[in-house]
Amino acid sequence: MGSRAPSTTKTASASLELTPDVLVCGGGLAGAMAAVAAARQGAQVLLVERYGFLGGNATGGAVAQFNSWQTSSGRPVIAGLAREVVERLRAYGAAGEHQVFVMSTGHTMDRIEYAPEVLKLVLDDLILEAGVQPLLHANVLDVEVTDGRLHTVRVLTKSGVLSLRPRVLVDTTGDIDVLHRAGARFLDLEEGDQLQPATMMFRFGPIDYARFDALGPADLKTLARRGYEDGELARAALHAARDPYSSDAWFNISRLGIDATDVTALSRAEIEGRRQAWRAAGYLRRAVPGCEAGRLQAFATQVGIRETRRVHGDHVLTAEELSQPTVFDDGIAAGAYPIDIHPASGGELIYTPLGPDHAYQIPYRSLLPRDLRNTLVAGRGISATHAALAAIRVMTISMAVGQAAGVAAALACAADGEVRAVEAGPLRRLLLDQGAVLA
Ligand SMILES: Cc1cc2nc3c(=O)[nH]c(=O)nc-3n(C[C@H](O)[C@H](O)[C@H](O)COP(=O)(O)OP(=O)(O)OC[C@H]3O[C@@H](n4cnc5c(N)ncnc54)[C@H](O)[C@@H]3O)c2cc1C
Repeated sequence: MGSRAPSTTKTASASLELTPDVLVCGGGLAGAMAAVAAARQGAQVLLVERYGFLGGNATGGAVAQFNSWQTSSGRPVIAGLAREVVERLRAYGAAGEHQVFVMSTGHTMDRIEYAPEVLKLVLDDLILEAGVQPLLHANVLDVEVTDGRLHTVRVLTKSGVLSLRPRVLVDTTGDIDVLHRAGARFLDLEEGDQLQPATMMFRFGPIDYARFDALGPADLKTLARRGYEDGELARAALHAARDPYSSDAWFNISRLGIDATDVTALSRAEIEGRRQAWRAAGYLRRAVPGCEAGRLQAFATQVGIRETRRVHGDHVLTAEELSQPTVFDDGIAAGAYPIDIHPASGGELIYTPLGPDHAYQIPYRSLLPRDLRNTLVAGRGISATHAALAAIRVMTISMAVGQAAGVAAALACAADGEVRAVEAGPLRRLLLDQGAVLA
């Protein structure tokens, strides 16, 4: 590890070749945090993203609220880089205060709302300041693997096909596309389980918040149920995250039961998602106090994807381990978000709250795909059961796990990229020094 920019060479076929220490594929929140953490640790980092901006679900999917910073009694479980992201958003005037609120289901939740467009700027600032080399508009094409080592990722760009030859790869594509192409093993859904649905977020406003906020959880529940039963809402919810810049809000009330790795289904979902959002906006105007003057202002850039592939790692994190909770010697992140399963169809949620002051850990081994020696996974594709993922998928935890993956990737460079040579003790100490919470 030395100078910042990964070295480049022209191959005989004149295609560009880059040789970073760490290649992070997928610039969602997990990937952006992994890239920043690895670069701050001294690694040369290349960050590949298929869109022209970073953030994934958090920006392109317009999720607009970071949930679950603390246990029910207020003990912090997330800090580190995730906290820095919020501080930087606040410096732009683009994040609200931390708040605890009661959902229409009657459960209590904590969150920080933010402006998705400004998060793009914050992530740009973070990666550039850390010295990460961004490669935007680059789609993962194929890979070469020999003896369990990933040698090359080829990406398709406007400049043609580029060959990337890292020492360590971190797959943060959400759908874990790189490792899928590498022939990695993935976890199957269990009998009766279905992938969580996608959602087309939409921005609606202006909203008269004096009247909208006067609606109690019981009123919201009644209105949501009526909208669902009348066929106007695809799920019985009126869940909204307020835009800090205006009197608009991003609504999370559509439901698209698909496998988002199937491009035909994904294409249909984008179209159906916009139709559901349009119908829902009409219902808001007609039926919901405070929304009468509102209009649909924007769709998210793409449908938000909650769940697709989960890699089979050295450890498969289970819901029981979250609810006990299990203490792991190699715990590299903590969380307190409950098990929150959106069924693929029907109006409701399956929501399993945790006990008072309850937090759980995520072990490093859940980031290590079986049979591969120089690769890590972070974000919504780590090695966890469907039910455990329903808790750890949120953005706060994705950022914490991304940070851990980045530090681990940088440490693995000293061992020729072997991710199992990274010892949990030093990794945990570095993360604690960086302000992360691990339990
Ligand atoms: C509708 C919805 C509502 C949610 N609500 C909340 C909430 O209220 N609070 C909360 O905290 N969390 C919420 N979540 C969960 C959270 O948003 C995600 O789980 C989290 O953002 C996952 O981050 P990630 O970085 O792992 O993946 P993603 O955000 O999916 O990022 C993956 C990145 O990889 C890129 N990529 C993918 N494939 C390729 C490829 N082949 N080549 C190059 N680049 C590629 C993508 O463009 C993207 O930038 C919600 C999720 C959804 C979908």
